[in-house]
Amino acid sequence: MITYTKGTGDLKNWLIGEDEFQVQFQGKTESILCLANGYMGIRSALEEAYPFQTRGMFAAGCFNSCNGETIELPNLADSCEMKIVLNDEVFSMFQGKLLEYSRYLNMYTAELCRDILWESPEGKHYKLCFRRCISKAEKHIYGIQVQIRPLDEDVKVTVETGINARMTNSGAQHFVDGTKRVLDNRYLYLDQTTTSSKIRVYHACATNIVGGTEDSRSFGMERRKILEKCTFSVKKEETVYFEKLSVLYTDSDYIQVEDDFVQEMTVDTLKRALSEGYEFLYQNSADVMAKFWKKNDVKIYSKDEKLQVAIRFAQYHLNAMVPLDNKSSIAAKGLSGEGYKGHAFWDTEIFMLPYFQYTDSEKAKNLLEYRVNRIEQAKKNAKRKGYKGLMFPWESAVSGEEETPLFASMDIITGKAAHVWAGIKEHHVTADIAYAIWYYYLATGDDRFMRKGGKTIIVGSALFWSSRSAFNKEKNRYEILDIIGPDEYTEHINNNTYTNYMVQFVVKKAIDILKSCSEEELKAFCQEFETDSLCETLEEYLANLYLPLPREDGILPQDDTFMQKEIIDIEKYRQDDVRQMILKYYSRKQVNEMQVLKQADTVMLLSLMPKKFSNEVVAATWEYYEPKTIHDSSLSHAVYSIVASNIGKSEYAYQSFCSAIDIDMGPNPHSSNEGIHAASMGGIWMAVIRGFAGLWHDELGLYLKPCLPDEIQGLEFCVMIRGKEICISIDKENIHLSSNQSETLDIWVKGQKYELEDELVIKY
Ligand code: BGC
Repeated sequence: MITYTKGTGDLKNWLIGEDEFQVQFQGKTESILCLANGYMGIRSALEEAYPFQTRGMFAAGCFNSCNGETIELPNLADSCEMKIVLNDEVFSMFQGKLLEYSRYLNMYTAELCRDILWESPEGKHYKLCFRRCISKAEKHIYGIQVQIRPLDEDVKVTVETGINARMTNSGAQHFVDGTKRVLDNRYLYLDQTTTSSKIRVYHACATNIVGGTEDSRSFGMERRKILEKCTFSVKKEETVYFEKLSVLYTDSDYIQVEDDFVQEMTVDTLKRALSEGYEFLYQNSADVMAKFWKKNDVKIYSKDEKLQVAIRFAQYHLNAMVPLDNKSSIAAKGLSGEGYKGHAFWDTEIFMLPYFQYTDSEKAKNLLEYRVNRIEQAKKNAKRKGYKGLMFPWESAVSGEEETPLFASMDIITGKAAHVWAGIKEHHVTADIAYAIWYYYLATGDDRFMRKGGKTIIVGSALFWSSRSAFNKEKNRYEILDIIGPDEYTEHINNNTYTNYMVQFVVKKAIDILKSCSEEELKAFCQEFETDSLCETLEEYLANLYLPLPREDGILPQDDTFMQKEIIDIEKYRQDDVRQMILKYYSRKQVNEMQVLKQADTVMLLSLMPKKFSNEVVAATWEYYEPKTIHDSSLSHAVYSIVASNIGKSEYAYQSFCSAIDIDMGPNPHSSNEGIHAASMGGIWMAVIRGFAGLWHDELGLYLKPCLPDEIQGLEFCVMIRGKEICISIDKENIHLSSNQSETLDIWVKGQKYELEDELVIKY
C-alpha cells in the first residue's frame, strides 16, 4: 500500500512510499519510486535480489532492435544489485524478522531511501539504511549508500556487488559483451554494444567504506558480469557507510571519438565521484532539485494531503523523464520501464508539452526539435503511403519511421495475436504535433524555432491532411475516412470529430503562416513540398472540409456511425483493476460495434479547444460519453476532469482528478508494473492548471476560469508566458496575479479584460 503521509515538518507532502514490504507488488514501487535525470533512469528495484523483481536501467535515446524485432530501449547492465552478508547470515527481508520497514522517495531531493530494523534468523539485530540517488547535477553519475549498524555485537560484513550485463528486455538480449576490466585493483569497468544499432555503453563503478575496518577486497569476472567482494568489520553500535559510486556513458554522447578515450573518461569520472563520495553527489543533486522546486512548486490547499503530494509526484516524474537534449522525446513510460518499448506517442506533445512550455521552454523546445529533426523521414512516410506533406509515426523512436508493432495481445475469438491498427490508421498524431507547435509558439514567442522547422511542420501537416482526405461528390465536401481517433476501441471509422476539428485548426494556421510569408519563403515551401499551389490547395480544402456538428440535443457525435452502435453496460470493466478487461470478453472487432470508449475522444477535443463550443454542447457531450468510457487508457481521466472543470462541474472534475492520480499512486498493486504513465503526469498538471484554475492562453491573452471543488481551498503556481513569469494564487473568491516583468499582459476573467503589469486582484 502506497503512503503519502510519511513526510513531517519541512518534508510534509514531499514523501511517497510504503510501510510494508510486499514481495509480489514490487513492480509498482519499482516504477513509481523510479529515479531518473533525463539522461538515464533506474527502476527502484531493491538492492538484494527477490522474486518478482524487474531490474531496469535505460538511457534516453539508446535504442536497439534485437533480431529484427520492434526497436526498443534496451535494459542496460545493472549495478544496483548487492548481496550483503552479516556474520555469515545473508541479509534478506524474507528471512528473520522485519521489525521496522520504511521505504520512500523524497521528491524534494530526488533521493530514494529505505530504513530497516532487521532481526536475523539467529536473532541478531541490525539497523540498515539504504540511500540511492541519480545526480541531477552531473548526468553520468549515480550512487548508493548503505548504512549498517549492528545493535547486539560486532559484525563482519561482506558485500558482493558489481556490474551485471545479463539483463534482458523480457528475454531479448540487446547487447554484445564487451571489455571487462578491473583497474588499479579498485575500479570496475564494463562496456557493452547494442546488437544492431551498435551503440556502445560504458559502465564503471567502485566502492568506498567509511568507518569500520576494511578486511579484504577481491574481484572476479564471469560471463557478462564483473564483481567485487569486500569484507569489513563493524563494532557494535557503530555505523559503517558502504558507498557504491557508478558512472554511465554512451557513445551517443561522443560520436566519432576513440573508444579508449571514452573508457578513460568513464573511469576518470568515476575516480572523481568516488573521492567526492555519496554525500557530495547527493548534496549537489539536491541543490539542483531545490532550485527546481523553488521555481515550479504548485501548491494545492486542501485537507486531503494526497492532492499536494500528487501534483508534486507528477512534476517530479515529468522533470525526471524529460530529455536533456533534442535527440529523443519522452517515452510513454519515461525511463521507468519496458512498457511501450520506450516509444514516443502523441502523449508528449498533447499531454506533457504544455507543462514544459509554461515552466521550462528550453525543454519544450527540445521536445519539438526532436520532431523537426525527423521532417525528412516524415516526408518519406507520407510518400510511401501515397500522401503529400509530412506524416509523423504513431510510435516514434530514432529514425521517425513508424515503429508500432503489428501484433499485440491475444484476440479472444481467434486465439491469435490481435492486429494493432494504430500504427496504420491512428493518424491524428500528425495534427496533434502541429497543434502543439502553435500553442508552444503562443506561449514562448519563439520565432527562431518557427523559422527553423516549426512552420514547416504546420504547413506539411496541413498538406498531408488535404491529401489524406477524400472528396465526397454527393455531399460536396472533404471527408477523412477509415481512421482511428484517440478512442482506440473504435477502428476504421469515418469523420472522427476529434480528428476533423484538429485538422481544421492546423490547416487554418498553415494558411495564416503561408499568407504572412514573403514570396521567397512561399517559393521555398512549395519547393520543399513539391507543389506549386500550396495556399490555393489548402484554402479550397479548408472551405470544404466536413466538420461534424452537435446534434439537436447538443451532443457532438464521435464519428459517422458511433451513435448508431449498440450500448452495453460497462460498469464491471470500469471497476476492474485490470485494464482492458473488456478484451477478455469481446474481440476488438466486437467492441468496435459498441458504444464503448477506451478513453476520452470527443471530450479530448473539448479539452483542447475550450472556446470552440457552447457550454451546453460541452456539458451534453461530457455527460453522454463519460458513462460510456472505460478509461482503459491512462490518458482519459485527467481529460474528463479538465473539461468538467471548464463547465463548472466541480465535483465530477474532482472525482475524475482523483481517478487520474490513482492511476499510479492508487492502491491497484499492478497498475504501474511496466513503468510510470508519463502522459498521466502531464494530465495531472493540466487538470490542476487548465482545469481547477481554468488557465488558457491564446492570441488574445491569458484566460482564467477557476472552478475549485469543495475539497480544494486554494491554488498557487507560476507560469511563464513569452518570457514573463506570472504567479497566480486563487482562493474561493479572488484571483491574485503578480509579475516582476514590465511588459503588460491581457488577462480575461468572465469575459472582462484586465491588464496585468505587476500586480492584480480580480474577484471572480
Ligand atoms: C492509448 C494511447 C496512448 C498510448 C501510450 C494507449 O493505450 O490508447 O492514446 O498514446 O497508450 O500512452
